[in-house]
Amino acid sequence: MAEPLGELTRTHTCGALRPGDVGANVVLLGWVHRVRDLGGLLFIDVRDRAGVTQIVFDKDDEAQMAKAKRLRSEFVVGIEGVVRRRSDDTINAKLDTGEVEVVVRKLTLLNEAKTPPFPIADDTPVSEDVRLKYRYLDLRRTRLASNMILRHKVTSVIRRYFDSQGFLEVETPILAKSTPEGARDYLVPSRVHPGEFFALPQSPQLFKQILMVAGIDRYVQICKCFRDEDLRADRQPEFTQVDVEMSFARPESIFDVIEPLMHDVFAVIGKTITTPFPRMPYAEAMAKYGSDKPDLRCGMPIQDLGDFFRDGSFKTFKEIVGGGGTVRALGVPNVGGYSRSQVDGIVAQAEALGGRILWARRLDDGSVTYSFPKGLGEELIRQMLDLAGVANGGLLLVAAGNGETASKLLGQLRLSIAKKENLLDPEKFEFLWVVDFPLLEWDEEEKRYGAMHHPFTSPMDDDVALLDTDPGKARAKAYDLVLNGSEIGGGSTRIHDAAVQARMFDLLNISAEEQKLRFGFFLEALEYGTPPHGGIALGLDRLCAILANESSIREVIAFPKTAAAVDQMTSAPSTVSPRQLRELHLLPRS
Ligand code: ASP
Repeated sequence: MAEPLGELTRTHTCGALRPGDVGANVVLLGWVHRVRDLGGLLFIDVRDRAGVTQIVFDKDDEAQMAKAKRLRSEFVVGIEGVVRRRSDDTINAKLDTGEVEVVVRKLTLLNEAKTPPFPIADDTPVSEDVRLKYRYLDLRRTRLASNMILRHKVTSVIRRYFDSQGFLEVETPILAKSTPEGARDYLVPSRVHPGEFFALPQSPQLFKQILMVAGIDRYVQICKCFRDEDLRADRQPEFTQVDVEMSFARPESIFDVIEPLMHDVFAVIGKTITTPFPRMPYAEAMAKYGSDKPDLRCGMPIQDLGDFFRDGSFKTFKEIVGGGGTVRALGVPNVGGYSRSQVDGIVAQAEALGGRILWARRLDDGSVTYSFPKGLGEELIRQMLDLAGVANGGLLLVAAGNGETASKLLGQLRLSIAKKENLLDPEKFEFLWVVDFPLLEWDEEEKRYGAMHHPFTSPMDDDVALLDTDPGKARAKAYDLVLNGSEIGGGSTRIHDAAVQARMFDLLNISAEEQKLRFGFFLEALEYGTPPHGGIALGLDRLCAILANESSIREVIAFPKTAAAVDQMTSAPSTVSPRQLRELHLLPRS
């Protein structure tokens, strides 16, 4: 039977007591973490968010002992007692409170608990479905509890930093109008306006730009965004963004704000990161790493061997290069120990990815083997290996054809080899600004251009004329912040001229009528003295996952959804009553 809390008031958390507290009368409130009944002696560990403290029951105190015998894991208790130093042989160096224990004077049993579906006290693996269903129990375990604490520290640092830089946190609506970030909207039917809908914001993009028109000058918001995207392993239908916008900003102004922020954020986990971060044009990232978010921890840039094969004796490659294609190669050092079947495995992997590679290698003894036609001769292969800088023990993977396709294929192989060879050191943090993105991308299915970033991104000053002549070539004042192969943020300088904005909408095939309907308010706002402005949004979930060394963002979100966009704990989404549907005009009134 549960006893009332009464006047019981915590004096210390379960992580606080130290030898200096010996002799103190204390009150601890928490959960029974573990029970150890050693016959005459009964120990329990009591846990709260801050830690664990060992409690001892005096065997001569029969009343307390009898009550204590009923304790089971996860019962909620109040402990009144005296702190005592543990005997030397029972000191637990792994516990912050491990030098002391509390001798109980009075135990209050505040609540009982069912046996949990998985142990809270140890980190035994549990299926994610069960962890998500009983999220409140999983959150009691060390891993998630410390992730929540970390996330809180990170958001506190972020808020403090932006405040110190003169940014105002302004909230923007959740019930809003569609923002074109490229995903499907979550819609909310209006009860009072039959047939009309709010859209949940995919981002506060239009609002933050309008805040610049409004003279807010420097805006930040830690906000939820909603995107109804197709299922992808590590996406969440609602996620958190650190959303930033600044008036009179060039891309460099944003870099200058974000780099010291990253410095402060990484200090939370005791890491010192160096700024400024390197910058790399999108085209270079795609060519050298086959990705617009290269992981720089493992080196191994992809090389272009097009010139080597342009006039060489290998007819196939000569034709490819002559036809406008190229030859790209990935040198992998220190894999002299790879067996032939391991190398064949890489070839098979390339095939599974829809590509084809040839390879050449220098074994540790300097001998050369390769999958190129034998007729080419070893001399040519050695020349190629020299050119690519492949030393003894190195492997060269070669793909030919369209440059982007070849680099993408080699880029995927690069990452998979780097993972296998443990070249992606989790203690290393390689930041990179990817810049000079194309403004538009061609949508083959719809036969029209789409915005690569979003339609409010400004073209480069030098490329504005291209909008009329060769829009596909225009580059954008857009940038992504990449960390260890993850995009942790993205933003741009915006179009602040209503006419250019309308021209951009034209290019995107958004008719004048649709422009008025969807963005009329925004185009009108732009006409009232809009300062040049730009911004960025950082993905807070991914950032926290990296800081916590977690591979899934679900581990740093208190109540995440599954990859299938379901909340396992509350069973949302769920059906609603016909009455609600009728009220919302989604069912005819009978
Ligand atoms: N609104 C953009 C996004 O959510 C970021 C930005 O351009 O600031 O990706």
